[in-house]
Amino acid sequence: MILDLTLKSFFELREKKGLKFVYDQILYNYEKVRQTNCIITSNFEALNFNNSDLNGKKEFFGVPVVIKDNIVTKDILTTAASKILEGFIPPYDATAVKRLKEAGCFIVGKSNLDEFGMGSKNKNSVYGACLNPWDITRVPGGSSGGSAVAVASRICVAALGSDTGGSVRLPAAFCGVYGLKPTYGKVSRYGLIAFGSSLDCIGVMASDVNTVREILNLISGIDENDETSVDSSAFPEPVIKKRFGYLNLNEFRNHIDPEILLTYSKTINFFKEEGYECLELNLEFLKYIIPCYYIICTAEAASNLSRFDGLRYGFSLDATETELDSYYLKIRTLGFGEEVRRRILLGNFVLSAGYQGRYYSKALKLRGRVFRMMEEVFQNIDVLLTPTSPVLPPRIDESQTVVQEYLMDIFTVLANLCGYPALSFPAGFSSNNLPIGVQIIGNLFSEDKLFHYAELFERNHEFNKAVPPILIC
Ligand code: GLN
Repeated sequence: MILDLTLKSFFELREKKGLKFVYDQILYNYEKVRQTNCIITSNFEALNFNNSDLNGKKEFFGVPVVIKDNIVTKDILTTAASKILEGFIPPYDATAVKRLKEAGCFIVGKSNLDEFGMGSKNKNSVYGACLNPWDITRVPGGSSGGSAVAVASRICVAALGSDTGGSVRLPAAFCGVYGLKPTYGKVSRYGLIAFGSSLDCIGVMASDVNTVREILNLISGIDENDETSVDSSAFPEPVIKKRFGYLNLNEFRNHIDPEILLTYSKTINFFKEEGYECLELNLEFLKYIIPCYYIICTAEAASNLSRFDGLRYGFSLDATETELDSYYLKIRTLGFGEEVRRRILLGNFVLSAGYQGRYYSKALKLRGRVFRMMEEVFQNIDVLLTPTSPVLPPRIDESQTVVQEYLMDIFTVLANLCGYPALSFPAGFSSNNLPIGVQIIGNLFSEDKLFHYAELFERNHEFNKAVPPILIC
């Protein structure tokens, strides 16, 4: 039998059968899904725990967690799935990791991702693509693909991911789990390898709402190492209006999978039947949002990634014979993958003299306008429901243009541009048994509203209990 690995069921099993029993199950599951390539560095040795005496131990003692490999972990290899960080063993923990460890959690592995978080399929990894456990010919979504696979495959209770434009939510949707991008600032970014600093958030993936909430509570809060971190307890508890918004998707209809549209409308109807009012929204700016996001994130990435020079840590070459500039050129050409180099080039272009006004400044203006428009929208509704992805998980070998891949982020980047919290939850399956996610976006610091809506849905559907076929056979 395949165990459920929510926090609640973990606590029950730990109490009744002992930690060793749970860990044996996890190792068994890992053997079954090893071929998905979800883990870059495993730390399963941490799981050889025989003693079931929990007296005096912390509440979260032994909770197995997986950490995306662009979040630094003391004494455990951290690569961001890039050659340029080859052999990098950080001397410190990210704040979120430190807080999990202090609570008693065990890190069981570092998960696969798109290099530096850049991608939507988890194919851009120097360690090879990660595969979807629901169908190993398909992608698990990116960039936090490995974390989503680890949760769906029951090898951890929760996983941390990072979300700059949807990287927690898209893989959550493709793998049938929950993925939360918290409000910007709620979780410290200290120790998260920077991609787009004004967009980056550490997020939580798990197989029920309660686990997401509990893990979020452990990792959030102000941190002296991150100037943008916020004490969110200072914000008032949101009042539930029982009114939500949904998108008029007529204009995009031809670009969205019909089974996703169907699941989306079923989800809307479910809330209506529960007595919630709804409001149809025409968000005109949606068609500009992808260029806006890609201009801002590449500009910030070009600047953030300039620190990787092959001199102080990670990948290096014998520099004795080389002049400094050509050393940088060589290291950065060999060390970064194609997508990362593309983004550095694009980012430097949109920031360059003569083009900055045309691209970067315009994108910033649009970002401000979108925020002001959304502020008005949230006057009338608790949350906005959208599909998480316009498409079902693509096949690994399906050829897509770069722009087609960028368009997969159409529904997710809004939350990053405005700093909003957003949660993808399992909302159904396609006719060929692939998970479908729906996204809930809320106003700043309204995580509790997202949980309220998602929990109501979860109690009545339980799509989160379904087990990927790879674990059963
Ligand atoms: N797919 C988006 C990108 O490639 C999202 C990345 C992310 O959230 N880290 O930029």
